[in-house]
Amino acid sequence: MEDLEKELKKIKEEVINCKRCSLYKTRNFPVIGEGNHQAKIIFCGEAPGAQEDKTGRPFCGAAGKVLDETLESSGLKREEVYICNLLKCRPPQNRDPQKEEIDACVSYLEQQIKLINPKAICPLGRHSMKLLMEKFGLKDRIEPISKIHGKVFEVKTLFQKVKIIPLYHPAVATYNPNMKEVLKKDFKILEKFK
Ligand code: URA
Ligand code: SF4
Repeated sequence: MEDLEKELKKIKEEVINCKRCSLYKTRNFPVIGEGNHQAKIIFCGEAPGAQEDKTGRPFCGAAGKVLDETLESSGLKREEVYICNLLKCRPPQNRDPQKEEIDACVSYLEQQIKLINPKAICPLGRHSMKLLMEKFGLKDRIEPISKIHGKVFEVKTLFQKVKIIPLYHPAVATYNPNMKEVLKKDFKILEKFK
């Protein structure tokens, strides 16, 4: 327990000082992740947006509002889950993450997952879905997010079982309000991980 806190703090310090890719030059604050360190569910978004970059907090802008609402609809509180991103620093103009940025940054996410050791990992959007499915040996099962969202993949790691549940990125509902219902329906699956 103490070790967990110590290790997570170490990641935080490493990210704050990180220069492994060029995004450190343009970011304001890195966004490390927040929530319950014993969470049963980890949500992994793509990268900080403008609001997150200003505050250092994940999902605190428009997409975050959708995420909060969707969490609430399935009876989950933000404080009981852990929320982080694939990239810890904001790409300029919110452009897509580049391969070399993901390669440079992903070890932080891997360490976070290993330490928190959740029952379910929910990639939000296609970039995290692709990366996390590759990392968990599900490369052959990758499909477009429009097909794969809400499906549950069980993987066995050396020491435990974990479920990978790809979900739409909450930002989709900020430009297509109909998607909120799709998100809420998918999030119902998470009730059993509470
Ligand atoms: N979009 C993301 O992918 N992550 C955030 O933290 C905010 C918006
Ligand atoms: Fe380091 Fe990741 Fe930030 Fe790049 S995005 S500088 S790898 S913390």
